[in-house]
Amino acid sequence: MMKMTLILLTLNTMLFANINTIVSNLPEQTFVKAIGKEKVNVAVMVQPGNSPHNYEPKPSQMVEISKAELYFAIGVEFEAAWLGKFKSLNPKMQIVDLAEGITKIEMPKAHDDDEHEAHHEGHNHTGSDPHIWTSPANVKHIAQTIYKALAQKDPANAGFYKTNLEAFLLTVEETDTQIKQILSTLGNQRKFMVFHPSWGYFAKAYDLEQIAVEVEGKEPKPKVLMHLLSEAKEERVSAIFTQPEFSDAVSQVIAKELQIPVKKISPLAPNWSENLIGMAKAIAGKE
Ligand SMILES: [Zn+2]
Repeated sequence: MMKMTLILLTLNTMLFANINTIVSNLPEQTFVKAIGKEKVNVAVMVQPGNSPHNYEPKPSQMVEISKAELYFAIGVEFEAAWLGKFKSLNPKMQIVDLAEGITKIEMPKAHDDDEHEAHHEGHNHTGSDPHIWTSPANVKHIAQTIYKALAQKDPANAGFYKTNLEAFLLTVEETDTQIKQILSTLGNQRKFMVFHPSWGYFAKAYDLEQIAVEVEGKEPKPKVLMHLLSEAKEERVSAIFTQPEFSDAVSQVIAKELQIPVKKISPLAPNWSENLIGMAKAIAGKE
């Protein structure tokens, strides 16, 4: 009888070994879910529609932190302000850095012809680019890191996580192949215009260039705006990409001036694969 109970208990933990995890943004939730499936609970800190650059967690989210075993950090700015507090609230929670081992690129700098004194007040958006999940190669690396952390926390299910990892890596590869195919007809016109420069790794992966409207986290000064408009005309950009997390007022002005559409697409969308493919289609004008 004792033995039976023990077996049942073991089975029970094996079948329902839920690991409580926290992630910063929605794409991360997609990645952790893909590998952990029903064996992980994934709570997202930055709620849809909010910017991960200045998010403030709600009290209910602090409760989730207190119950979590793993926090998957990705290097977005709000983590710098909050991870320490999370850790003191729940010292047992392990923080896994998904940006580890990924080569960061720099955020676009202010234009050379812009006055320098304009860039000394509180910019929160300089340094390395935090939007690492917009490149499939980076996401493969991220997936490996997630797998290792889950397998370490829950060794009994390591095989389960490994199978899911392999399936997910295939999805990432297929996504990459599709994007390459979509962009293969682009030719020399490889620049696209964005408000918030969140597609740097995507651009780098596919030999594209993003022209950012926002400069170091701020709307551009008139002089810079003029420069951007002439650059966009010269490069014959076909659209301006904005994301719902930010105001599109300036983008609307530019779109009107250049007579091009404003297209809303967020790198924070949960459907990571479709979203990246959608971005490629939009850049190639194949929607
Ligand atoms: Zn951003």
